[in-house]
Amino acid sequence: MVVATETAWAAVSSVSDPELPPLTIADLGVLRGVDADASGRIIVRITPTYSGCPAMTVIQMEIETALAKAGIKNARVETELAPAWSSADISAEGRAKLAHMGIAPPPGPGASVTCPRCESTVTEELSRFGATACKSLWRCTSCLEPFEAFKAL
Ligand SMILES: [Zn+2]
Repeated sequence: MVVATETAWAAVSSVSDPELPPLTIADLGVLRGVDADASGRIIVRITPTYSGCPAMTVIQMEIETALAKAGIKNARVETELAPAWSSADISAEGRAKLAHMGIAPPPGPGASVTCPRCESTVTEELSRFGATACKSLWRCTSCLEPFEAFKAL
């Protein structure tokens, strides 16, 4: 049973976020856990990120596909709403992948958004709405480049 849980974790942790493909649901902290119930049935627990992100249905389908490919049948995907997801749940690897994509990772409480190009913290928000609900549009006042920032939540 332990082996099945590990196989399931390996399969689902490589599922990408449809809006930020290099980032996996494990990087984002969307994947909360993989367990097996008393009968050996695999239970995958996920949590939605921003309520405006329509990605959860897609993520759930991709998880089911990944499990089927790994030969795990009869699994159940559960959505966990509490505790609520926070941008602090993004892993260090996830934050590095965001910066590599030119997207500023969400700043910690009280911190300012850092320019992903020159790492200046002197930045200004141009628009609360970026290409997706998860991101807002910023501009660096040092290198003057506009960039997207993952919203802190
Ligand atoms: Zn800059």
